[in-house]
Amino acid sequence: MASRRLLLEHLLRCSRRLSFHLPSSSSVLPHPCVSTFSSAFSSVDLSSAHRSDSAAAGAVSDAFLRPPSSKGQLAEASAASVAAKKFLEEGLRNDWTRDEIQSVYDSPLLDLLFHSAEVHRHAHKFREVQQCTLLSIKTGGCSEDCAYCPQSSRYNTGVKSQKLLSEDVVLDAARKAKEAGSTRFCMGAAWRDTLGRKSNFNQILDYVKQIRGMGMEVCCTLGMLEKQQAEKLKEAGLTAYNHNLDTSREYYPKIITTRSYDERLKTLEFVRDSGISVCSGGIIGLGEEVSDRVGLLHTLATLPEHPESVPINALLAVKGTPLQDQKVSLFLSLQLLA
Ligand code: SF4
Repeated sequence: MASRRLLLEHLLRCSRRLSFHLPSSSSVLPHPCVSTFSSAFSSVDLSSAHRSDSAAAGAVSDAFLRPPSSKGQLAEASAASVAAKKFLEEGLRNDWTRDEIQSVYDSPLLDLLFHSAEVHRHAHKFREVQQCTLLSIKTGGCSEDCAYCPQSSRYNTGVKSQKLLSEDVVLDAARKAKEAGSTRFCMGAAWRDTLGRKSNFNQILDYVKQIRGMGMEVCCTLGMLEKQQAEKLKEAGLTAYNHNLDTSREYYPKIITTRSYDERLKTLEFVRDSGISVCSGGIIGLGEEVSDRVGLLHTLATLPEHPESVPINALLAVKGTPLQDQKVSLFLSLQLLA
């Protein structure tokens, strides 16, 4: 009993530490379209952030992979330790198979945490986090049917539809965010896309320019984009665009029927091609299987470039949505994050 308590305490300490071990240029950004209580991030351009002392890091890794010398130690290196060692030696890769990701995911949790922290420390200033502020600039009344979202007009959740916030309100919020220490400001709008919203879109371009002028990074999440719109956002100075895949390709139609996974990926392609950083992740607790979480990770890890940020959101079930009775475990988010 005592050892179990100690283990739990250790896990909790690990999770607290992890929340501070975020990449120096990542953002603390919850899914903008849904109420969530947890977010976490993966790599930010790991290739350019390598430390020069990879030999030292390799030695640490070798030590961990040393064959067991006594009874009771791990009989074999876990998939997490093998993957971490490979990363330290060869860098990022985009050719992951789903089975490989499943094996890493299935590694013993503490082993997974240890090696994910090892990779993270190798690539980033692990004591630094970036503080970001998110503002919903257009709330509610969305035509989409995302089963987790209180902003969908299809569900009776009590969220009222609002118009796009005015320039005064948005810029004032950005100024206050900067004063409070944020270096990135994110604007979220509850829309399927911005087609047919020319004046709103132009207004947002202006917000992006003005907030960049304050010396902050700017992120937007406005639904699906066309190529030209991504290019205009880039011209305006947008730093990053958030567009979550939410879950695996297979489970996606059970959560959203009003758009496809491929449409989602197309927007990510336009964002990436325009030179804007991609922020894309998912939500756990949607009723998905482990294979769906692995599927989400596999899609993200095999994109032509890894997203700059990967928000891992945990569902906050809202009354009135189809997922109102869903429960979610903190351990699942920890495992997915690692
Ligand atoms: S697209 Fe609309 S319904 Fe779906 S998460 Fe965003 S705001 Fe909610």
